[in-house]
Amino acid sequence: MNMVDERPTGEDKRELVSWLVEQISHHSDLYYNKAEPVISDTEFDALLSQLKILDPLNSQLERVGSDSAPGTKKVNHLFPMRSLDKATGINEIKHFISETTSQGRQFVCQPKLDGSALSLEYRRGRLVRAATRGNGSRGEDVTANARRILNVPESINWKGDCHIRGEVVMPLSIFREKYSSIAPNPRNLAAGCLRQKSLQAGKAKAEDLIFLAYDVKFPDITTRHPDSPSPPQFTFDSESNNWLSSVGIEIAGNTVVFADNDDIMSQNIVSITEYWTEERQDAKWEIDGVVIKLDLLSKRDLLGMTAHHPRWALAWKFPPEEAITVLMNVDWQVGRTGAVTPVARVAPVTVSGVTVENVTLHNPGEVSRLQISIGDKVRIVRRGDVIPKIIEVIDRANISDMDGRNHSDGTIFNEELPNYSSIIIPSSCPRCSTKLIEDGAFIRCSNLNCPSRLERTILYWCRALEMDGIGEKLAEQLCSQGLVQSLPDLYRLNVSDISNLERMALKSATNVVNELEASRNLTLGKFLSALGLPGIGPEIAISVATKVETIENLLQLVALRTEEIDIDAEGKPLHKHNRAIRELIEIDGVGETVANQILDGLGIRIEIVLDLSQQLQIYPELKSASGGHLTGSTFCITGTLTRPRKEIALSIKARGGKVVSSISGNLNYLIAGESAGSKLEDAKKLGITILSEDELNKILKLKKLSLESSVNTQKSLNDF
Ligand SMILES: [Zn+2]
Repeated sequence: MNMVDERPTGEDKRELVSWLVEQISHHSDLYYNKAEPVISDTEFDALLSQLKILDPLNSQLERVGSDSAPGTKKVNHLFPMRSLDKATGINEIKHFISETTSQGRQFVCQPKLDGSALSLEYRRGRLVRAATRGNGSRGEDVTANARRILNVPESINWKGDCHIRGEVVMPLSIFREKYSSIAPNPRNLAAGCLRQKSLQAGKAKAEDLIFLAYDVKFPDITTRHPDSPSPPQFTFDSESNNWLSSVGIEIAGNTVVFADNDDIMSQNIVSITEYWTEERQDAKWEIDGVVIKLDLLSKRDLLGMTAHHPRWALAWKFPPEEAITVLMNVDWQVGRTGAVTPVARVAPVTVSGVTVENVTLHNPGEVSRLQISIGDKVRIVRRGDVIPKIIEVIDRANISDMDGRNHSDGTIFNEELPNYSSIIIPSSCPRCSTKLIEDGAFIRCSNLNCPSRLERTILYWCRALEMDGIGEKLAEQLCSQGLVQSLPDLYRLNVSDISNLERMALKSATNVVNELEASRNLTLGKFLSALGLPGIGPEIAISVATKVETIENLLQLVALRTEEIDIDAEGKPLHKHNRAIRELIEIDGVGETVANQILDGLGIRIEIVLDLSQQLQIYPELKSASGGHLTGSTFCITGTLTRPRKEIALSIKARGGKVVSSISGNLNYLIAGESAGSKLEDAKKLGITILSEDELNKILKLKKLSLESSVNTQKSLNDF
């Protein structure tokens, strides 16, 4: 088939772009996938450069061929994706070491990621296919979704053929923020997300996943692309991990351990497992153990395989995450939004290495679902990221279930078995006695000045405005002493009010007052976000503030929130929503629900809001899109950063900047996080300004950015 002749002759740019995309897709498939090019490299490059001129951000410029819908095609793995032998005990580690170390004691250790395995196939350095593990020899083609994972590069910094294996995980921060209410755990979510055919509501986006590699395989001369260079030669596996990093692939870990004898070797590896047991709760993604692999590759070949597993590797898994204990009592806690949550007190029990005495019961609905009573023997689970929870009632506990239990500090737990009794769901607030409102599976205290809610609101306010010095203890004292009865009272505190409180020195009291003073000047977006209205996060708050500009305008919308919708002569409504809602739903990301949450949230707090607006100096939000200080600047984000990329992208957009996913000469700034790969290299070659996350944060805070083109000038932060 020769499609070159069909080139559109007209002036229509769109037609020409789509023709070019089709051509490039067709010919790159012939070249990369089939190694049967029908046009010369020069002709191919000419197509690319025309597309680059007409549509520099076109995604086809990065991609090879076109992808089939995920899950519709099977892939035979050229190299099987094997599972590893598993162990949970120290003796199994010792045994593994003594069995494998007759020629050299050097191992490479990596955290074992609890995600979904993925194989990335690069041809001539370009990503041509991605496949799930499947049964190990045959998986599913998920290329289209894998491309959307932000740290899976379209091309690596080596123009050859290789298969890169790793795990796809969802960062826990993203899971907690966006998905914890819709999915039981990040692993299921990652697997489902890779395989979904199209983006479905309530499902995860591939952009929220991360790929971390642990292995690379190179096809031999009979199967690789004829133009592929010979693969690099490695003596040790740890070298191949370093190589992966150098070509722009993020790796799962690369800790090399060596020792003179088996005993020290075992000790060293056990201490690594202990390290990860400790780190597990703070890890960025879920890990479920440590993978231990012999580092010397030639020795691996000698050891070979059992029927199921390679003999040179062991997957050590964390001890079980479930345990059995006794429900002692239930406390009811009131949160910032008024939700009253049951917290179960249980007899101390060790779960995945941590002593647990409090577990969540979520809401009254969960209490009735579990049919649980005080004095029950219960099974609890603690997965790396989440608060431990009760998953089932086993039976009524007896005295022996209380034996041999210690608090986390080692002291003996000597409470008696509690009387068997049902859990009483409160009808009034445990703190302020207000009658509670039922709301689906939840119950809520509707009193905005409920001391429990107020404490949480104060802490939220202070954290949002980056104030130091007001912690849980002080917030509690301020509320229980009656010094703060509503949020604005914070701004009426003086040094002696605070220094008179228990354990508050004059110096820290002064510091708190100074912090409060400094927080009196703020933008409308900050103000809205610090109020902590249900459903309104910082990004929505900024978008709303940008749209309405001033607090006065916003309050006017609040006043109009119950306004009737205009009707025509026949009495039919002229609009779907009233004026206030209509104005808010024009904002990107704000629908009817959010608009109502904003207006009602402010409406019921109107006294607090008015009082605060007297105490504070609230500035209009920096103008976005047309006037933001980043208008005209283009950003690209790569590598691992402390905040989710999407959030960073929104902060840039809120200030008028544009965020793109690929490097081109039109790019102004590359924000490079840790382990930034090929994009960083490409950007350096083009002389694009590279920013660290800190530098970006400083720019985001500026009111103005000098906008002369930064291409070919390597600026430092001092230039801003
Ligand atoms: Zn209350």
